[in-house]
Amino acid sequence: MINQTQAQALATLLNQIRPRWSTASMMTILQKNHGIPAPFGDVAAAAIAAARDATVLTPGLIFTDPRFWPEAAKAKLPPSPKCPEHPEEDAHHCRACLADVIAGDREPDAVGKGQQRPGKPHPPPPNWRTWRDTHPPLDT
Ligand SMILES: [Zn+2]
Repeated sequence: MINQTQAQALATLLNQIRPRWSTASMMTILQKNHGIPAPFGDVAAAAIAAARDATVLTPGLIFTDPRFWPEAAKAKLPPSPKCPEHPEEDAHHCRACLADVIAGDREPDAVGKGQQRPGKPHPPPPNWRTWRDTHPPLDT
């Protein structure tokens, strides 16, 4: 549970860590998730961990990605949303969408969002060779 005073303090703190995450948008997200069955300390720890992770582009992942939550709190979280395009995968870390990013067919911020954006192919991330070399195919 998150009360108004806690939400305001956490929104201000998160804005200081990630200036692009405005206090107003953080208040909206925290109010939307105010009933989460976890103590405020766990919510704050998860939110700060997400804000410190440069790969997290949107603050909504705080409440959907279990990586940021203490072990004791993970069991209390609601189930992760599924990728609308690949329903067997969690939206926040859809392996099929991540493969599309490597192939240059999807922008990195479109993982787990369903539709690929129309237009010309996107260039793969600059470190794709390193990523490929550390993740060999499974069926060789
Ligand atoms: Zn997907």
